[in-house]
Amino acid sequence: MQVGIVGTGYVGLVSGVCFAEFGLSVVCVDKDARKIRALREGRVPFYEPGLGELLQRNLRQGRLGFSTKVADAVRGSQVVFIAVGTPPRGDGSADLSHVEAVAREVAQHIEDYKVVVTKSTVPVGTGKRLKALIRKHLRKEVPFDVASNPEFLREGSAIEDFMRPNRVVLGTESARATEILKALYRPLYLIETPFVITDIETAELIKLASNSFLALKISFINELSRLCEAVGADVHILARALGLDQRIGPKFLHPGPGFGGSCLPKDVQALRSMALQHGVRLRLPEAILQVNQAQRQWMLQKLKTTLQPLRGKQIAVLGLSFKPNTDDIREAPSLYIIQGLLKEGAQVRAYDPAAMANMKRLLPQVRYASGPYQALRGAHAVVILTEWNEFRNLDLQRVRRLLKGPFFFDLRNIYPPGQLRSLGFEYHSVGRP
Ligand code: NAD
Repeated sequence: MQVGIVGTGYVGLVSGVCFAEFGLSVVCVDKDARKIRALREGRVPFYEPGLGELLQRNLRQGRLGFSTKVADAVRGSQVVFIAVGTPPRGDGSADLSHVEAVAREVAQHIEDYKVVVTKSTVPVGTGKRLKALIRKHLRKEVPFDVASNPEFLREGSAIEDFMRPNRVVLGTESARATEILKALYRPLYLIETPFVITDIETAELIKLASNSFLALKISFINELSRLCEAVGADVHILARALGLDQRIGPKFLHPGPGFGGSCLPKDVQALRSMALQHGVRLRLPEAILQVNQAQRQWMLQKLKTTLQPLRGKQIAVLGLSFKPNTDDIREAPSLYIIQGLLKEGAQVRAYDPAAMANMKRLLPQVRYASGPYQALRGAHAVVILTEWNEFRNLDLQRVRRLLKGPFFFDLRNIYPPGQLRSLGFEYHSVGRP
């Protein structure tokens, strides 16, 4: 069976490469000709561990093709996935213009039965809208189905997540489409992955609800980290005890500078705005977003209060991506915090193992170092913003010697406070006495 995928970003490319790895024949399309050229040569245009090897293997074995023409993804494919971006608009609702543009173009090339599937995260009702849109733009009367197959992969462990997901959600309105999609995922069936087979609306809502719930857990522990500092409690012990309750679970209870990335902030906003459009005012999404913003502000405030005045101070920032093992800086806390530091007149020298090229495009005024120690030399303070493994085992004596001031802001709580203080640092973390 051949599969077409339109959009070769973090989701589309990983899905395409993994479907090829399942043994299917896959055509991936993107309107970005440079991206497609790189992919044809076996180069992944972003950072995702393990993806390069898998791409090259499937290219060599002839199961994977790349094109800039949507027609190539449609012709010969029984299933066409839409995996383009759905960024937030000014009012927080999802911008569906890319998804709709692809659906219109797909429609014009449909010659025989197809299942057109949204893998992009979309508001409830999109499947139905796309169905009408596709019908309107068909060149001839042909049967087709639309379906929703939301993606839950995490950047940084995307391949493992795609190959061994917690669940696969299929939202369809015909048995024929369900059977075809189940066949695509047969290798996961064999390893007993749970399948949730439902209608399109429920599938669409599952994705927004999942991401909002994850954001809620992070915001809950972040908000409590502020209380912990005020009352002298330790947020890590609190989180561990909470997580040992099986009804709560230990994941996503790690305090930090607030969540970022291309999904959580956008999907919480999308849930809120989509609910409002249906006349339902949800209070939790609103609160999650407020807590997240407050957490970032609190981090900046910690820096300001300790280092005041910031003007003229040199700050070393370690970590720019919104989480480790990705070069993605969309909505990263680093953007907010660095911009806040620059606004106050501080100078920033930053290092990140993967995300510096992306950050340079947005913040050229920051100086970029070739390694963590180069970033630290002569700085008044160091701020850890992303918990990359290479920051977990810094030579702390060397760090202390390189820094001009004693200030160590560990906003991911990767070091034990006692050890850092005994080395002469003025150590600040999140929610620990
Ligand atoms: P991305 O921005 O990395 O990639 C989108 C790609 O689509 C780009 O390469 C762009 O050039 C291409 N594109 C846009 N319009 C096009 C068109 N008309 N024709 C052909 N190509 C076009 O986006 P992403 O991070 O992969 O996210 C895609 C969707 O998946 C979003 O809805 C997102 O919310 C969702 N999602 C993302 C993740 C994640 O971790 N990034 C996880 C789950 C779901």
